[in-house]
Amino acid sequence: MTAEIIAVGTELLLGDILNTNAQFLARELAALGISVYYQTVVGDNPARLEGVVRQARARSDLLVFTGGLGPTEDDLTKQTVARAYGDGLRLDEEELEKIRAFFARWGRTMPENNRRQAYVPVRGRKIVNNNGTAPGMIFEDADVPGHYAVLLPGPPQENQPMFLDSVRPWLQSLSRRALHSVNLRVMGIGESHLQEKVGPLLTHENPTAALYAKTAEVVIRLTAGADTDAQAQALCQAYAKRFYDILGDHIYAEGEDGLEFAVVHALAGRGKTVATAESCTGGLVSGRITAVPGSSEVFGYGLCTYANEAKERLLGVPAQMIAAHGVVSAPVAAAMARGVRRLAGADIGLGITGIAGPGGGSAQKPVGLVYLAAADEHHTWVEQLLVSRRPRQSVRNIAAQHGLELIRRTALGLPQPLAQCFGPEGPVVYRQAGTPQDV
Ligand code: AMP
Ligand code: MG
Repeated sequence: MTAEIIAVGTELLLGDILNTNAQFLARELAALGISVYYQTVVGDNPARLEGVVRQARARSDLLVFTGGLGPTEDDLTKQTVARAYGDGLRLDEEELEKIRAFFARWGRTMPENNRRQAYVPVRGRKIVNNNGTAPGMIFEDADVPGHYAVLLPGPPQENQPMFLDSVRPWLQSLSRRALHSVNLRVMGIGESHLQEKVGPLLTHENPTAALYAKTAEVVIRLTAGADTDAQAQALCQAYAKRFYDILGDHIYAEGEDGLEFAVVHALAGRGKTVATAESCTGGLVSGRITAVPGSSEVFGYGLCTYANEAKERLLGVPAQMIAAHGVVSAPVAAAMARGVRRLAGADIGLGITGIAGPGGGSAQKPVGLVYLAAADEHHTWVEQLLVSRRPRQSVRNIAAQHGLELIRRTALGLPQPLAQCFGPEGPVVYRQAGTPQDV
């Protein structure tokens, strides 16, 4: 099947927003084995849109539209496509009621414009939008059965779930082939490094494998097609094993859940608890841990010790240590980890201290320098992380991600590739880890 993606919106042409929907859809379609040959961006202009639709319909089996379903412009994309595909539009009472109810919830009456969003294909079908007011829709070409146009709303928080929940399964059923996907979540190996390690595995036809870079982690998505579900699943599993052989315990989980779930799972599985003392991450690690249901079993104390005084008074970090090494230093991170472990009576203590920026950096201690430490009964592991050229919030998020990984590896007794280890109260030495590309 050949496809093209058509993004509708003048704001895209003006560079006001980035066409992230096209990137998402392109990856998803490729993973389904659908060949995307063209991508177009067109403004909210009926004549030009019609030209694009005419050309695309003539050369592709499937057109995927994103955007142009807003209340002010919805008749534009819908009517243009309906006309080209020999379909009409009808008012859908159920959709109208949903839109009215949406406004009523906020104590407002529905503007007349929004009525237009309740029009859906006569012959084709609507796709329910669980995250907004504009339904999506599928038109089948009256002249060429088996050729389709799919319309999706523009906001990514509506577009993506609608594609994953409704369009993807429908496309799978069209191909009459069972598809199975597995997400391998990889921590501690940057995207480019990972590309080197598993590069040859990424050009396979079935299963396909693609890398998706996230915040300080990478997801490898494997997709296999076969005659039956069980066969597709078996293909995925066999192929996944080849990644495990290379990446080992850097694959922290399969599926959708982030690293905090793996951390809670690891701690619960070993019957261990963790306590955190965070400075530059300001509680991001404890926030993520407590977002996991059941985390109270493994987590009781998360301190945000932002000021030096808080580190001294609550965690017992010696003032002279801060004076001698600076508050952003390996010894201080280690002392924070040990201090919070002692204070909470936890099995593992985590300490994080760093410079999130944009100010506060120096030649010796640049913005993005973060020390993370995990202390257990026997050891204190310290990691030096350098996150270069990233805004404050990225530095904080990346540091939190590394903090979670340090907890996971400590809880499971895995080797600490990014850290060095010393006795319970002994001197702390570390080695440089995390070049900018590795983050
Ligand atoms: P629309 O459905 O065209 O009214 O778009 C509504 C909003 O969705 C826009 O204001 C953008 O914030 C977002 N949006 C639309 N198209 C895209 C796109 N191709 N990629 C990312 N965001 C988009
Ligand atoms: Mg628009």
